Amino acid sequence: MKKQIIIGLALATVLSSCGRGKQGYDPDSLDSTALAAISQDSYEAHVATLASDEYQGRKPFTKGDTLTVSYIEQQFKSLGLKPGNGDSYFQEVPMVEITSKPTTPTLTFTGKNGTLTARYLDDYVIGTRRLEDHIDIPTTNLVFAGFGIVAPEYNWNDYDGLDVKGKTVVVMVGDPGYYDKTLFKADTMTYYGRWTYKYEEAGRQGAAGVLLIHDTGAASYGWDVVRTGWSGPQLDLVAEDKGASNPAFEGWVSGETAQKLFQLGGLDANLLESAKKPGFKPVPLDISTEVHIQNTFRYAKSNNVIATIEGAKRPGETIIYTAHWDHLGIGESVDGDSIYNGAIDNAAGVSALFEIAKAFQAAKVKPERTIVFMALTAEEEGLLGSAYYTENPIYPINKAVANLNMDAFSALGETKDVSIVGIGQTEIEDYVARSAAKFDRIVRGEKNPSSGGFYRSDHFNFVKKGVPGLFMGSGSELISTDTVAIHVRQKALEGRYHSVRDELDGHWDLGGILADIRLFFDIGYMLSMEKTFPQFTEKSEFRDLGEKRLAK
Ligand SMILES: [Zn+2]
Repeated sequence: MKKQIIIGLALATVLSSCGRGKQGYDPDSLDSTALAAISQDSYEAHVATLASDEYQGRKPFTKGDTLTVSYIEQQFKSLGLKPGNGDSYFQEVPMVEITSKPTTPTLTFTGKNGTLTARYLDDYVIGTRRLEDHIDIPTTNLVFAGFGIVAPEYNWNDYDGLDVKGKTVVVMVGDPGYYDKTLFKADTMTYYGRWTYKYEEAGRQGAAGVLLIHDTGAASYGWDVVRTGWSGPQLDLVAEDKGASNPAFEGWVSGETAQKLFQLGGLDANLLESAKKPGFKPVPLDISTEVHIQNTFRYAKSNNVIATIEGAKRPGETIIYTAHWDHLGIGESVDGDSIYNGAIDNAAGVSALFEIAKAFQAAKVKPERTIVFMALTAEEEGLLGSAYYTENPIYPINKAVANLNMDAFSALGETKDVSIVGIGQTEIEDYVARSAAKFDRIVRGEKNPSSGGFYRSDHFNFVKKGVPGLFMGSGSELISTDTVAIHVRQKALEGRYHSVRDELDGHWDLGGILADIRLFFDIGYMLSMEKTFPQFTEKSEFRDLGEKRLAK
């Protein structure tokens, strides 16, 4: 009898903690009805469609674009979501596709020890963001400017005393902290380490050209990723100045080519090492080259696809879920396959938007703040869809509570931990920890903070506007103890990033992705019931920016 009462009480506690019924919303419990709406079967079907060969790798402006955005619109409609842009689900993003080709396939460098001929794509890549038919640089001298960083707060200036007008700067990827843990943020890459920053800074300095020295460790990806990314047309937003503020040309050289360049200039191979230490001064390389690029342009529009669930109490305040829908399209053929399907990157993220929307629709207590679902275009081309949205926001930036970005799922299976990219940046992490605990999971930082992941997906454009962004993915502590199966899966899935092998197949274990989707839902749900706005942390370089935008 006594036992039965205890069981009865326990059951009553479980039921009331399910967030159901008249008690209302309870942030310390999970809404089991909402979570039950997240279905592996429908999720997998969405991924299969979006990553199918028919969708041609979902490159903006292609047939794959048309198919993808109409599929997403269709799903948003059938889920009963409201159009996110007036009476439309689309936000048009005007872009320009620039096809830059060197007029000869080789680039010749002349130095005091002779000449060096570099082969296009094998040894170097090059392009321009200037909207000019021809780029003709009859001669330009090379200068080695270390990391190409100007960071007063770290007392670092690689351009100190250097006039780079008409010159081509050669710079290393990464930032000094990667090599010396006492510098910058040690292993955690700062924005100064990103290649986008290097080009921006070279443009501010007025350089004619900029060449990055590739290094697999510091860049966190191999030459093949650079090669794939640059062998074809490049997309950009249409800038008012037609790209005139950018260097005339931008490119990369392989690590090996850089070594040969230094030899050509008769320079000490230790130059790279001394540039990693404070106090380095830029060194002219005594090498010249000429650059001729022919450009063709195609102006075209792609779309962000946006839908909402209106908040029941504070509809003006938004929780913005994002996932980019685009991928690399059709490219260089590898083993007879030329379609870059982008199943993990990022059919997996887009499909998660649909499942999370279903969960919100099923929730017993409606979200008090508005939930925005945003499938963004042209992330792979430099975060362009999110850049356009944050420049042209539909929902006021100062009422955006958080951006929750999905672009990093893993098909390796369920993990005990979740991994926050760029951990320590925002107070959203408190919600992550609280939600993770409900699922009996723990929070960790990313495994490889030196890869600068925090600057490499769409949430970063929200962060640049002062909106706290969360970029979170599966952790690494697998729950399964079947080490043989894990090993087989790891072998089958490795090396797929940005390759033709990023496909949905039998090697996937979807359990981990579904667990992460449930977590993403619950975090957004908790935030939607709050009245406060999470901030950037004290030590975040974006703290001031965040406070200023809320004050607006
Ligand atoms: Zn991606």
